[in-house]
Amino acid sequence: MDLSYTPEEEEFRARLREWLGKALPALPPKPSPDDWPARRAYDMGWQRMLYDAGYADVHWDASPTVRLIFLEETEKAGAPYVGAGFVGLLHAGPTIAAEGTAEQRARWLPPILRGEEVWCQGFSEPDAGSDLASLRTRAWRDGDEYVVRGSKIWTSHAEVADWCELLVRTDAAAPKHRGISWLAMPMSAAGVTVRPLRTLAGSAEFAEVFLDDVRVPVGNRVGDENDGWRVTMVTLSFERGTAFVGEVVACHRVLRELAAEARRNGRWDDAGVRRRLGRLNAEFRALWRLTQWNVSEAEASGGVPGVGGSVFKLRYSHARQELYDAAAEVLGADALDLDRAWVLDRLSSLSYTIAAGTSQIQQNIVAERILGLPKGRG
Ligand SMILES: Cc1cc2nc3c(=O)[nH]c(=O)nc-3n(C[C@H](O)[C@H](O)[C@H](O)COP(=O)(O)OP(=O)(O)OC[C@H]3O[C@@H](n4cnc5c(N)ncnc54)[C@H](O)[C@@H]3O)c2cc1C
Repeated sequence: MDLSYTPEEEEFRARLREWLGKALPALPPKPSPDDWPARRAYDMGWQRMLYDAGYADVHWDASPTVRLIFLEETEKAGAPYVGAGFVGLLHAGPTIAAEGTAEQRARWLPPILRGEEVWCQGFSEPDAGSDLASLRTRAWRDGDEYVVRGSKIWTSHAEVADWCELLVRTDAAAPKHRGISWLAMPMSAAGVTVRPLRTLAGSAEFAEVFLDDVRVPVGNRVGDENDGWRVTMVTLSFERGTAFVGEVVACHRVLRELAAEARRNGRWDDAGVRRRLGRLNAEFRALWRLTQWNVSEAEASGGVPGVGGSVFKLRYSHARQELYDAAAEVLGADALDLDRAWVLDRLSSLSYTIAAGTSQIQQNIVAERILGLPKGRG
């Protein structure tokens, strides 16, 4: 393991910092969380700025260490995160890059990098979440098209997406992991209905997506027919690998703000509060070191994130919730003030132990693949 940076990496950091110093003041004000078309325009506008400055493909083409520096510096500078570009940049894009044909890469990758097309992820179904391979949305061949029938749920950004990376069952008789295919479905296709779902925090972050005999060209399948499970595993390893890195930096910033607030409102005088914030500080420092360790391991194995991402995701999602619990203790009655971002952030932190694989599933992965314990029966 090597946690140091080379002179070239430090140079990348310095150039990026300088560019951020000039680029960020030119950003328009952040749109309201409920205005999805405006959020899409804002997120895609930022992606276009990254593209014009030569940073758009950092998630794909740069080494894991350079990616880490990029995420650290952009977060520290207060730059926007990928937002509506999340699935395109961190799921579908890397999958198409790794598994797509030359024609598919040429069709779908440049618009993602230029911030022109938004993707969503149609994996989960009402009866297929943790046990994703039991998904039931069917697709059958009709000439050079698939006809897709079924429904998806918890599809983030579905309302503003142009494309959906869709998992469908193409062989109902095969063992469940072997009858799945990965399709790129245009969200504008006839038969696609999106019904937004409101979260506890009040905004419609995700949706149900109903698919009523939707026609998708066979040429939109990435990977072989019935090989979609293997293709999907490429996507999920990226999701747990680096997707949350910038957020550790963000949590550290929130913690500093919380300590400043505690000094202002007198809560700092309570030794219990100081101890709690100190422990969280140590926790986020340890998570940052774990991130560097994971990146160093990925670097050694040719850039592919390993199961260390599950250890990180498991601990990080709980630490984030503990941070917002501590915020409630520090802020007291102010923690109920809906005009303050704290409240919404606390509510949304509850989703972190579910999204991108629940904590129980991460524990299973750690138990089986790192500790070598026997496989569970689930
Ligand atoms: C904010 C957010 C955004 C999301 N965005 C998307 C998206 O864009 N696209 C998409 O496809 N999905 C998305 N999801 C869905 C997410 O992937 C699923 O919610 C998650 O995989 C869990 O599935 P489930 O909700 O069906 O719960 P279930 O799988 O039904 O699990 C219920 C409970 O049982 C536990 N459990 C299940 N199996 C086991 C086991 N083998 N061992 C131990 N415990 C087990 C789980 O940990 C959980 O506590 C999103 C979810 C959230 C919260």
